Amino acid sequence: MREKILVANWKMYKTIDEGIELAECLKEKINGRPKIIICPPFTALSNINEVLSNSELELGAQNFFYEKQGAFTGEISPIMLKDAGAKYVIIGHSERRNIFGEANELINKKLISAIENEILPIFCVGEKIEDRQAGQTENVIKRQILEGLKNMSRENVEKIIIAYEPVWAIGTGLNAKPEQASEAHKFIRETLNEMYGDKLGENITILYGGSIKEDNIEDLGKMKEIDGGLVGGASLKCDSFVTIWKKLKSAKNI
Ligand code: PEP
Repeated sequence: MREKILVANWKMYKTIDEGIELAECLKEKINGRPKIIICPPFTALSNINEVLSNSELELGAQNFFYEKQGAFTGEISPIMLKDAGAKYVIIGHSERRNIFGEANELINKKLISAIENEILPIFCVGEKIEDRQAGQTENVIKRQILEGLKNMSRENVEKIIIAYEPVWAIGTGLNAKPEQASEAHKFIRETLNEMYGDKLGENITILYGGSIKEDNIEDLGKMKEIDGGLVGGASLKCDSFVTIWKKLKSAKNI
């Protein structure tokens, strides 16, 4: 179902106490739509889950391994995420792809496992600057989608949130122009329509991510292809994130 959503990706920031303080502030100031999904580091998941109980704010994780359990030292399973209260998980973030070498094949296994274990994926795709400069943006995104969603049924793909995150915009302060982001979102919807037919692309929530800030969310949010945002750096301060949420709310007239 297509929804308006703002995701907070805390990356590798916030101790448990710092996370609780931020989550309490967000809980106090945010209510209703756009929907909020907070993705703290693993160590704070349970505590943030407690803070968010009795609120509309939802909890997600930033990563996991696709097996249910086993001898996989240092990894976290989907069962464990659910146990800690996570309903969503980010999969295929460019920092996982580029720093930790996660390829489309692994990302596909994670997407399938998340759905099987009833955790809703936030599936990230996006091109590097050299891809864009070489005119390869659409080819790269298409490959990430085709290989990432391999062997997945339409019914399962309908449960996924997609985040278009151009790698050159993440953590750089250089956001995509609203028109550039909108074009990529449109292309993603068309690709999904080609793969699954019957206008599936129009029913999927697609978020933009990459240096979202208080001063650019309004213009991005006004684009009808863009259903919301995935926010990294600017989600680490309560006031900035609340302002971004309020501006997205007004841009979307909700
Ligand atoms: C992200 O973490 O996916 C992200 C978009 O980060 P930032 O907002 O800091 O660019």
